[in-house]
Amino acid sequence: MSIAQNLQSISTSLPKEVTLVAVSKTKPLGDLQAAYAAGQRVFGENKIQEMTEKWEHLPKDISWHMIGHVQSNKVKYMAPYVSLIHGVDRLSLLDEINKQAAKNHRTIDCLLQVHIAQEESKFGFDEQELRDAFATNAFASYPNINIVGLMGMASFTTDTAQIKTEFTHLKSVFDSVKNTPASHVDLHILSMGMSGDYKMAIACGSTMVRIGSSIFGNR
Ligand SMILES: *Cc1c(COP(=O)(O)O)cnc(C)c1O
Repeated sequence: MSIAQNLQSISTSLPKEVTLVAVSKTKPLGDLQAAYAAGQRVFGENKIQEMTEKWEHLPKDISWHMIGHVQSNKVKYMAPYVSLIHGVDRLSLLDEINKQAAKNHRTIDCLLQVHIAQEESKFGFDEQELRDAFATNAFASYPNINIVGLMGMASFTTDTAQIKTEFTHLKSVFDSVKNTPASHVDLHILSMGMSGDYKMAIACGSTMVRIGSSIFGNR
């Protein structure tokens, strides 16, 4: 199946309130151009330098999402154009994002990454850190950032019951902090689900799925 056919079959299967992020990391420009020609406008990358090179070469109506771990010293390269940063996994990163957003006269939308998997290796806030951040209004001092939702990655496992437990947990955390009144916070995006688990994620309440290999093939 071609990239266009893969996109077509996935996007028609998604509920209309779910946004599809086409994860194009490691893929050549031609693959992104094929997805663009098929109508896709939201792309996800996990390396800032690679995303910036692609942004330079591709049409400017693309929304670029940074889905990977963010190093503070590289925020400046994406600050002029990034539309959503999924991987905010520590409060100190917000200092740099806010600073670079201000330099570019922008407000940058961010998701807070929550650690839901069993693996230690995955990044993110744990539930208590997250609750503390909301309770102390930690985002009030970042006028150039909007916290628009949460992001999580399930364990890398074939145990679907485990994956379901983790997604359900993230959804319940999302619901419980969603209505906390806080400055620069408007939680309406729940980013969870990849090629192998997006149907489960949607059943558990995802509003944004990040799909790579099912669109572009294996990496
Ligand atoms: C690579 C990646 C994806 C997409 O993974 P696929 O299994 O190829 O769909 C989604 N989210 C994150 C954070 C990723 O790094």
